[in-house]
Amino acid sequence: MTYILGVLGHPLDHSLSVPMHMSAIFTLGIDYVYMSFDVLPENLSHAVSEFKKQGIKGFNVTIPYKETIIPYLDELDEHAKRIGAVNTVNNEEDRLKGYNTDGRGYLRSLIEQTGFSPVNKHVLMIGAGGAARAIAFSLLESGVKRLTLINRTIQRAQRLADHLGLYFPEAILETLSMDHINAIPHEGIHLIVNTTPAGMKHIKQTNIDGLVNFLLTDRSLSKDTIISDIVYNPMETPLLREAKNAGFKTHDGIGMLVYQGAESFKIWTGIYPPVDIMRQSVIRALLQGH
Ligand code: NAP
Repeated sequence: MTYILGVLGHPLDHSLSVPMHMSAIFTLGIDYVYMSFDVLPENLSHAVSEFKKQGIKGFNVTIPYKETIIPYLDELDEHAKRIGAVNTVNNEEDRLKGYNTDGRGYLRSLIEQTGFSPVNKHVLMIGAGGAARAIAFSLLESGVKRLTLINRTIQRAQRLADHLGLYFPEAILETLSMDHINAIPHEGIHLIVNTTPAGMKHIKQTNIDGLVNFLLTDRSLSKDTIISDIVYNPMETPLLREAKNAGFKTHDGIGMLVYQGAESFKIWTGIYPPVDIMRQSVIRALLQGH
């Protein structure tokens, strides 16, 4: 029997999850297949119940469904419940259980690539969606002291800050709307992370461009500040290119993609997959203009 895995989201043109997971499946020689499920918001509920009916083994959840999928699942693991977002669903005896591997994947990649040490640091996060939730939790759990959330929809940032405050009462949590970039704290920022799809292939220009210009030309921002982008297609996003040109350290989204994917793979199959092969397949797909 061939087990079916996949990624659920919309749009999915940018996604490299299929070649990445298929490279691990081929290497391990196991009877699985990983497919792309591009589903419109109005069909989400139907799609999830079909997945269950068809006995799909598991799937990743990506933009924009990491939070909205939750009511359609039977159960959440403790970590996903705390975060309030799901990026991995596993079919366990006909019950769909939600997990979240995004935060751990992000942190592992960030530390490996840049040597970032989170304790007592100040992080500026752009975006307050599903990926932002998971990353915020991991950063705060690892000792980040101050987190400034900037989002297009300020109410969503405030909801996330309120939620985080329940778990991290000692942390300094602030929210800012993109229309008030002048209010951004200037000094002592150690990490800026973009968690919005700005810069992603096939996405039109977004309104974070003014914010990015403002940040990168701000002379009071130390050149030791790490500029991180979780968008992985293209590998060097406009944000990372501009940051590099301006002399900042940068961190791209490929490592997060690989490590969160490897953790999901382990949940579905019980096997920790070959991450180097997965990384190579992602880079190959990008070089081929995927
Ligand atoms: P999501 O839950 O839909 O959240 C999207 C976030 O981006 C929200 O804060 C949203 O703001 C903001 N946003 C969307 N369109 C915008 C625009 N035109 N201008 C300004 N802000 C905008 O999505 P997600 O699942 O968190 O994913 C976000 C991005 O991260 C995607 O590009 C995804 O591919 C990437 N990602 C990468 C990895 C990786 O492994 N490297 C893992 C997860 C996600 P509002 O609240 O105002 O709507």
